[in-house]
Amino acid sequence: MIVMKFGGTSVESAAAIERVGGIVQSRRTRRPVVVVSAMGKTTNKLLAIAEAAMKGGRAEYIRQIQDLRDFHSREARQVVPLDHRAELDRTLDEHFQELTELVKGLAVLGELTPRSIDAISSYGERLSSYIVTLAFRHFGMAAEHLDSRRVILTDKRHTQAAPNFPETYRRLAATVPGLARDSVVVMGGFIASAEDGVTTTLGRGGSDFTAAIVGAGIGAEEIQIWTDVDGMLTADPTILSGGHRVKTISFAEAAELAYFGAKVLHPATVVPAIEKNIPVLILNSRRPEVPGTRIVSEHVPSGNAVKSIACKRKIALLNIHSTRMLMAHGFLRRIFEVFDRFETPVDMVATSEVSVSLTIDNLQRLDAIAAELRQFAEVDTETDQVIVCLVGENIRYTPGVARRVFGALDGINIRMISQGASLLNLSLVVAEKDLHRAVVALHEEFFTELDPAVFERNEAVHA
Ligand code: ASP
Ligand code: MG
Repeated sequence: MIVMKFGGTSVESAAAIERVGGIVQSRRTRRPVVVVSAMGKTTNKLLAIAEAAMKGGRAEYIRQIQDLRDFHSREARQVVPLDHRAELDRTLDEHFQELTELVKGLAVLGELTPRSIDAISSYGERLSSYIVTLAFRHFGMAAEHLDSRRVILTDKRHTQAAPNFPETYRRLAATVPGLARDSVVVMGGFIASAEDGVTTTLGRGGSDFTAAIVGAGIGAEEIQIWTDVDGMLTADPTILSGGHRVKTISFAEAAELAYFGAKVLHPATVVPAIEKNIPVLILNSRRPEVPGTRIVSEHVPSGNAVKSIACKRKIALLNIHSTRMLMAHGFLRRIFEVFDRFETPVDMVATSEVSVSLTIDNLQRLDAIAAELRQFAEVDTETDQVIVCLVGENIRYTPGVARRVFGALDGINIRMISQGASLLNLSLVVAEKDLHRAVVALHEEFFTELDPAVFERNEAVHA
C-alpha cells in the first residue's frame, strides 16, 4: 500500500481532479490510499463564513454558503456521471443544509468556539473526499470513501488536536487494508474526531499530517505528497531559477530547509512516517513524470558537501558593543533578558569579549529592543539583511567548506557567519542587495559538479 496526498490546488477543479484520477490510476497496483485536502480555498472560505455569522450579516453568510455550494456543485458535476448526479445533489444538499443550520445557530449565539470552528471547517474535506470518490468511480476505478473521523482519534484541543496514536493506528490497521484490497480508499485530510465523536481538526495544513499518520498506521511502503513543485531544489527558486532537483534528502536536512523558509513541507507533519522508517516523496501533480524528492530517515551519503542553499529574508542584524563589559560577567544574560521581555526570538548569534552580533526575524519590537539595549551598550541595527544557509549533513565532515564559501563570496560583505550550532548548516548574513549575487556564486561553487546519485541536473538552465 502507498499513501497519496493531494493538496487543495491539486483538487481545486474538475480538471485538477481528472489529473489526480490519472495519477492514481497509473499507480493502482500499489494499492493507493488517497488523502485529499479541501478543494482550492474552501477552508478559508468556511472560516470567512463563520466570521460573517459573528458579524450577524445573515444575507452575507447565506450568500457565501450558496457560493461555496455552487462551486462544489459546478466542479463535481463535471466528474460525476449522469446516473450519480441525483446522489451527488442529495449529498451536497444534506451537507450544505447542515452547515447552514450550524452557522445560523452560531449567529444567534454570537459566539464562535474552537469546537464550532472545527465543525465548520471540517466540511471542506468531508466534501472533497466524497466528490473525489465519486469521480474515481466515474474514471473506472473501484473506490471507497472512508470518513477520517472514524479512524483518526484525537484529544479535544480543537483546531489543533493531537492524535491518540495507539488507538488511531489500531483503527487504521483494522479498517484500511481490507478496503484497499479491491478499492482505492479515499479519505479527507485534516479532520478527525475526539473520543466522544465530536469533530476535531489537526491544524491548518493538517492534511500532510493525516497522510503521515495513515501511512504509519497501515505500514505503507511510501507516502507521496503531491504538490505543485518538482520537489526540493538546490536553491530557492524565487532567488535562482537554475536550481537542481535534490533526489534524496534526509529528514534532518529537510527539517533544516523548512525552518529556513522552504515552503514545500512542514517537517513536523511527517514525523510519524519518519519514526516508522517510511520514505516520504514530494511530487508535482502537474508534472507527474518527475520523480520528485525522497525524504528518508537515515543519513544520505553524497559527494557534494551541500544539499541546498536556503534563505531567510527580511531579518535584522544587531551589533551590540560594550567596553564596560570587558572582563565582566552577565553581559549575555542582560542582552538576552531584553529579547525575552519583548518575546522576540533570536536566530543567529556571534560573540566576542565585548561585542555580540545577532539576528532576529520578527522586527515588530526592534526599536524598543534597541532602546533598552542602549541603556548599557552601544547598539547599531541594520534591517534588509538576509540569512543565507548552506544545508547538508556532509558539511561537518568535509574540510575546506568555509574556505570555499569565502572564496566564492569574494567582494561581497559577509556581515556574520556561524557554523556548528546546528551540525548540518553553515549560515551567513549578507545585505539584501547582495543576496542574488551571493546565492549565484555559492550555487556555482557547490553545485557545478553534482553527485548523480543525489541530484538531477536542471538541464533546461545548465545545458
Ligand atoms: N484544508 C486544510 C487547510 O487549508 C488542511 C490542508 O489543506 O492541509 O488548512
Ligand atoms: Mg494545503
